[in-house]
Amino acid sequence: MNTSENPENKIETEIENLRAEIDRHNELYYQRSAPEISDAEFDALLVRLKELEEANPELITPDSPTQRVGGRAEGFKPFVHRIPLMSLDNSYDIDDLRRFDERCRKLADGRNFEYVAELKIDGLSLALHYENGFLTAGATRGDGFTGDDVFGNVKTIRTIPLKLKNGFSEHAEVRGEAFLARSVFEKINAELEMQGEKTFANPRNAASGTLRQLDASRVAARRLDLFPYDVLSGASKMFSTHWESFDWLEKAGFNVNPNRTLCQNIDEVIEFTDRMLLLRDSFDYDIDGVVVKINSTQLQQEFGATTKAPRWAIAYKYPAMQATTQLRDIVVQVGRTGALTPVAYLEPVLLAGTVVARASLHNEDEIKRLDIKLGDFVLIEKSGEIIPQILQVIKTRRNGTETKYEFPKTCPVCGFAVARPEGEVVTRCINPDCPAKLKARILYFASRKAMDIEGLGEVLVEKLVDLGMVKNAADIYSLQLEQIAELERMAEKSATNLINQIEASKTRGLQRLIYGLDIRHVGERYAKILARSFRSIENLQRATVEELDAIHEIGLTVAISVFNWFENPRNQELIKRLQAAGVKTEIDGETSANINENFNGKTFVLTGKLETLTRDEAAKLIEEGGGRVSSSVSKKTDFVVAGSDAGSKLDKANSLNVKVLSEKEFAEMVK
Ligand SMILES: [Zn+2]
Repeated sequence: MNTSENPENKIETEIENLRAEIDRHNELYYQRSAPEISDAEFDALLVRLKELEEANPELITPDSPTQRVGGRAEGFKPFVHRIPLMSLDNSYDIDDLRRFDERCRKLADGRNFEYVAELKIDGLSLALHYENGFLTAGATRGDGFTGDDVFGNVKTIRTIPLKLKNGFSEHAEVRGEAFLARSVFEKINAELEMQGEKTFANPRNAASGTLRQLDASRVAARRLDLFPYDVLSGASKMFSTHWESFDWLEKAGFNVNPNRTLCQNIDEVIEFTDRMLLLRDSFDYDIDGVVVKINSTQLQQEFGATTKAPRWAIAYKYPAMQATTQLRDIVVQVGRTGALTPVAYLEPVLLAGTVVARASLHNEDEIKRLDIKLGDFVLIEKSGEIIPQILQVIKTRRNGTETKYEFPKTCPVCGFAVARPEGEVVTRCINPDCPAKLKARILYFASRKAMDIEGLGEVLVEKLVDLGMVKNAADIYSLQLEQIAELERMAEKSATNLINQIEASKTRGLQRLIYGLDIRHVGERYAKILARSFRSIENLQRATVEELDAIHEIGLTVAISVFNWFENPRNQELIKRLQAAGVKTEIDGETSANINENFNGKTFVLTGKLETLTRDEAAKLIEEGGGRVSSSVSKKTDFVVAGSDAGSKLDKANSLNVKVLSEKEFAEMVK
């Protein structure tokens, strides 16, 4: 008999192959941050291996991937966990949850019990140790037994108290999920892109990359956050119920996620998972499911754990946010700055409930980095409302029919030459009259945050530009009712509405106008600062680079960009025509009435306890007056307002010779 046909031998071979495959993907994921398959596909491999091992326990080896969880990064000292951080069993459908419930009820043997359902944050688990109330250690989960000692980095996370606020004085181990808010993630990527550096694929990768930084000051700048999910004291749970630990964590000073519920039965758990799935996109952080735990710690202890996971908890995972699909084509779009942005056109694939057919490719370098060819299979990921990203090309699936992609040497819209300044990642069309740029710029000028001209949408702008009726933003104000009404499919009534909207947009005020001019680097916040500082477009136009740079929050890059914009004769002409059309180019009365000369353009730091008003109230007064409130003292700080019990910030202010105000002096300034 041929041994390869021996069924037991076949199983052994499959197990060996699975282990090798899982190890390989583990390494790609943890050591090289370059996954080839989605999490769900990976889990499927692991599930298959578990099944085979459970049916053939004699084939289980201590080094099988089922016997450990995760991996470690290099460059950090190992940290041995006092109590292992076990991973949870995953479930992918409601039936799994019901089976989990059945098992629990059987183990409880007729006794009543409750579940706690909470969000599964898509981040990295951390264990934090407090001795006598002070934070003394912090480590990643690693393989559950040994993690990385990232204490230096952990200390920079602002929502992790360095001292427990509830005065707890014995040993406490707080476990939680470190993550980056989506809004912070987007800012980090925007900055990296501006600096010409590689961007992160999603918030979790960014959080992981950040925690593995060896330079703690870089970690501090990234604004990691943490939601705690458990607290232990010594070798056991601190409370008789899991629910109580959240109150304790809140009082201790942690940022506790409010989305959790105490459930009397599994139906209530399922109701919670459904509700959270609907809210998923509205959170400023990524979640990948719901964690369900038995509330009673007594029962938790009784139920115990298998070698891999506790029997009293389960992670219910939402549909995968990753998938593999094929790249059909790359189409280059031209934006309002002339930036050429390649977009991947994909074989449509279902991802987290929506069909995905496109993904962002950012720029030429990203195409090079991915080494992507037309026809390649790719791993894509969707994260919240962010446009899907391509994580990786699956090169093992290439069959030789893939073709190389050449980034265009000319503008795909106007055919003009393109340029990519040295050190920048963005390629731009250099034709100032490129219709693609003009269309995008007009849309931006009319957008809600700028001049807010409702009805001036994409289709209409396309026509107006193509027909030569609009050559710059000022042309919008010369449009006549008959002209617009004559345009195809434009009813008389909507034409009248549009004319009224255009007229109304003339009084939107200086801040929105500056924003709408689309000066490079000048977004909403800088537009506000410039409007408050200069009060009129004439003043801004006359400002020198030095004058611009002297404004507290305006850096040299922005100052030069603003100056250059107004130096351009085309832009000077545009301003002249906007003024002639009656567009208001001064700061509006309401905004300037509140400006307090003592506060305008100044940076404040608040510290200690104020007697007559809360910190939020003080901050509001400063901001309304045109100032800014910062959380840390630096050489750029103008004033530190010190209440009672002011601590290290006051010392720092004194050492940097920053002016310190008492609450009384501050109150004088308010007047
Ligand atoms: Zn062009």
